[in-house]
Amino acid sequence: MTRHDHWIGGKTVRPASGAYLPTVDPATRAPGAEVAAGSASDVDLAVAAASAAQPRWARLPAAERSAVLHRIADAVEAHADELAELERECTGKVPAQLRMEVESSAAYFRYYAGILRAHSGRTIDLGDGNHTYTRLEPYGVVAVITPWNLPLNQACRALAPALAVGNAVVAKPSEFTSASTLLLARLATEAGLPDGLLNVVAGTGRAVGTPLAAHPAVRRIAFTGSVATGRQLAAIAADRLIPVTLELGGKSPVVVFADAELDRAVAAAAGAVAANAGQVCSATTRLLVEASVHDEVVERVSESVTRLEPGVHFGPMVTEAQYRKVLGHFADAAAEGLVPATGGAAYEDGPAARGFYVRPTVYAGVPRWARLAREEVFGPVLVTMPFADEDQALALANDTDYGLAAAVWSGDVARGLRLAERIDAGQVAVNGGALTIETPFGGFKQSGHGREKGIEALHEYAQTKTVSLALR
Ligand code: NAD
Repeated sequence: MTRHDHWIGGKTVRPASGAYLPTVDPATRAPGAEVAAGSASDVDLAVAAASAAQPRWARLPAAERSAVLHRIADAVEAHADELAELERECTGKVPAQLRMEVESSAAYFRYYAGILRAHSGRTIDLGDGNHTYTRLEPYGVVAVITPWNLPLNQACRALAPALAVGNAVVAKPSEFTSASTLLLARLATEAGLPDGLLNVVAGTGRAVGTPLAAHPAVRRIAFTGSVATGRQLAAIAADRLIPVTLELGGKSPVVVFADAELDRAVAAAAGAVAANAGQVCSATTRLLVEASVHDEVVERVSESVTRLEPGVHFGPMVTEAQYRKVLGHFADAAAEGLVPATGGAAYEDGPAARGFYVRPTVYAGVPRWARLAREEVFGPVLVTMPFADEDQALALANDTDYGLAAAVWSGDVARGLRLAERIDAGQVAVNGGALTIETPFGGFKQSGHGREKGIEALHEYAQTKTVSLALR
């Protein structure tokens, strides 16, 4: 049985508890590797290692930190297959998804390695009697707590900018999917990241996440995961008066007007079901369609998702709890009298029945108050609603507690932009506009606050200091 230990101070460390947690391959339900069951004393060790290493790292010239980040990117690329395999073992993801996630994990380090050399403080003109400037200074030790849906990717999204500006990190991956983040830390050390700058403590949220967030030497928290946990971590951060980035869920709309290029809009809507089997916080899962083409679009999207093959085009639910949660949504929907246009069940036979696979699902014409229309399902499930005009489309798009992302499809580009400006969401793509590492990402409303990606993330992990010198 493979066991994954913590990575602390540049080496593997066994859990103080001596205990390990089981993992499962969700594609087959076969038992997988065990991961260290961390506890508060492991957290103490990791935070101490981070605190000791951080000041020297912060004082290095940006070019030197940048060079190390480039070498980490090289190492991720060189070990892409190994990282992907570790991720597959505990997530069941399909190869294309794994490739994309590992590639963008490396790209985060590459991007922030570049930005770091070009972006720092600014000078402020207060007249000829002063020399006044700002510096981006690190917080010190940053806690990075990540979920199971895009494990390595979400870790790198936070780690790269946090390390770039001179912080040390203690990462707490999901107990279901820790292996790739642990290997990343080893690779980073081997690539020249000084010991103690990236520590990974595995274990549950309660046993590791909570003491980590509450640790007096942790000066900032970056969290990705559920609203409920986000609230708990925000309460700890409020008590300690430290900043926290909350990247929580979504119920993001995709608005399709009758004059849109329907082929592309349909493909994008179906893509939101296939991509990581809908286990993506920014998945556009509320399909709002102009009434005159609603039924046609529903039919085409349903046809398209029905052709998706489990294990080929999409993977299983990553955890058994998530699998049960999605099936619970289907049961509730049935009790409310909702009938899916396609899907709405697990697989009863064949290889997919062995794993936590859920059939790609579309519920058409769902009332806006239905649970399925309001809650994040986090599975391969779309709900659709017709709208009469632009005003109603906007009202429906904003009729959610969340505000992470949105998409608009229209042949009238001005209308697309009008809607983009009035939808309450952190990212809006019009007619398939690209959203990448360069584009800041984060929530409005209950999707959280703070920004990942882009130059903005560098500022999240740095605090601005003003220095002013009188010249006479
Ligand atoms: P979660 O919030 O419980 O877990 C996310 C991370 O937080 C994990 O590392 C977990 O161990 C840790 N954690 C849990 N409780 C904690 C606590 N009290 N203190 C500190 N850390 C804690 O999320 P989940 O249970 O894995 O998933 C539940 C739901 O969250 C999903 O159904 C989905 O709707 C949503 N989700 C959203 C995202 C996203 O990217 N926004 C990712 C995963 C899950």
